[in-house]
Amino acid sequence: MTERIGVYPGTFDPVTLGHIDIIARAQQVVDKVIIAVAGNEAKDPLFSVEERVNMVENDIEHLRGNGWAEIQVVVFDKLLVYFVQDMQASIIIRGLRAVSDFEYEFQMAAMNARMQPDIETVFLMASDRYQFISSRFVKEIARHDGDVTHFVTTHVSDLLIKRFSRP
Ligand code: ADP
Repeated sequence: MTERIGVYPGTFDPVTLGHIDIIARAQQVVDKVIIAVAGNEAKDPLFSVEERVNMVENDIEHLRGNGWAEIQVVVFDKLLVYFVQDMQASIIIRGLRAVSDFEYEFQMAAMNARMQPDIETVFLMASDRYQFISSRFVKEIARHDGDVTHFVTTHVSDLLIKRFSRP
């Protein structure tokens, strides 16, 4: 049987417990999960792409091995459908939170399907404990010295504190 490869693309600025939950669920659906960290200079990320890759690598450590689906973390900076083809993947994995995500995700999935009909987009829902978490609000809270340890790992929380600490 051919290996089912899924690409989970995102900015991961920073990676949250919501993202990690989706990654663990994706492992139930595909044989290999490729976490595609977008360069996304247009979004002016707080962390560099290297920092974001390192954060993801660190936070998924516990999801490797034990016969679980393989995980690979890679940077991508091209049209998603081309990247998915390069990776010989056939599935795009996206997380769906509330209604607010729907419009954007719906348009993206539909346009990707028109460009590359062989690629299927699969939407996964995070556990209700994590569904409301967004990287944007995590950054806002951390910027104002709030505690984000309910939303990200302590490793990411420490990096946020460091990033926003004033001399
Ligand atoms: P992007 O810039 O592509 O939206 P993000 O890192 O913000 O990148 O999100 C990547 C994917 O993860 C998106 O599909 C987003 O909807 C999903 N996602 C983010 N946070 C959560 C969460 N708390 N629960 C479920 N899905 C999430």
